[in-house]
Amino acid sequence: MSTTRFSEPPKKHLGQNFLHERTVIDRIVQAVNPKPGDQLVEIGPGQGAITFPLLDRHGRMTVIEFDRDLIAPLTEAARAHGELSVIHRDVLKVDFGELAHDAPEGRIRLVGNLPYNLSSPILFHALEHAPAISDMTFMLQKEVVERMAAGPGSKVYGRLSVMLQAYCTVTPLFTVPPGAFRPPPKVDSAVVRLVPRAADTVGIDDPATFARVVRDAFGQRRKTLRNALSQVCDAAAIEAAGIRPDARAEQVPVADFVRLANSLPR
Ligand code: SAM
Repeated sequence: MSTTRFSEPPKKHLGQNFLHERTVIDRIVQAVNPKPGDQLVEIGPGQGAITFPLLDRHGRMTVIEFDRDLIAPLTEAARAHGELSVIHRDVLKVDFGELAHDAPEGRIRLVGNLPYNLSSPILFHALEHAPAISDMTFMLQKEVVERMAAGPGSKVYGRLSVMLQAYCTVTPLFTVPPGAFRPPPKVDSAVVRLVPRAADTVGIDDPATFARVVRDAFGQRRKTLRNALSQVCDAAAIEAAGIRPDARAEQVPVADFVRLANSLPR
């Protein structure tokens, strides 16, 4: 067995905070709870903290890792655990739809202790492929999970909350302290489960219009909707959708954003 395995120091620019706390790893594996036939895909396997216990349970999975220094040691170490398919690529360039082709019902299950510097882009990338994903179990900064799950009226309710909740159910599972990682991040973390809604229940007529309404509404969150959305629609359209034009985005429920976007011309 090679002693140089995983000898590289963690790379900060790749968000490498490796999990070492056994109880946290076990809770993640339990939360995923793979069933026969599931096609598991892990984003950022790192040194295999979650990968190997999942492989021990499930026998096979796919991982997407960007750090070239981790590919060979990961592939070698995985042999003792199961059949690992390693994709050496930036996850933002991976087409989840393609990975889902061979999966049961054409959908994969995503897992990952995500690189925190990329968590929002990865979440938005996953949303673009939501029909190819049956669920996601992700470790993120606790503060990001709070934003994802927040409702109207909360200080942290924003674009991320509305976009994610429009397409998925968002369930925070448990929090994880910095000491569970090496090196420890500066912030608390949390594990969250996202389950994409069935395409026919999302109810958004045109995803691009919806995304634009939400982006503009929260782009200037101190402004009233009438002002924040002036490039998209007028006050009459906002009122016709049943929303007060002098409301601020942070007070508007997800369903109201959907109704407003659906009422606008594409
Ligand atoms: N899963 C491991 C664990 O829990 O110990 C590592 C988690 S670490 C927080 C994030 C991982 O994502 C690292 O292995 C890092 O190299 C990888 N990563 C960073 N940017 C990536 C990208 N754009 N695409 C794929 N993987 C990436």
